[in-house]
Amino acid sequence: MLCLTCHRVRPALDRADYTAERAWLIVRRGLCTCGTPNPAAPRPAHLAPVRKPAGSPK
Ligand SMILES: [Zn+2]
Repeated sequence: MLCLTCHRVRPALDRADYTAERAWLIVRRGLCTCGTPNPAAPRPAHLAPVRKPAGSPK
């Protein structure tokens, strides 16, 4: 059930895997995202640091 890399809970593959014990482990340890890309955390280009133009009036 636990990931050997990050020691977190691997995502359930089946409805039968959604047990109370698994839910508790996810709360305690977190969910492993090693094998799957994380769609919840993309790298938004608009959050890149914007350099202010030099010499802007105050
Ligand atoms: Zn992992």
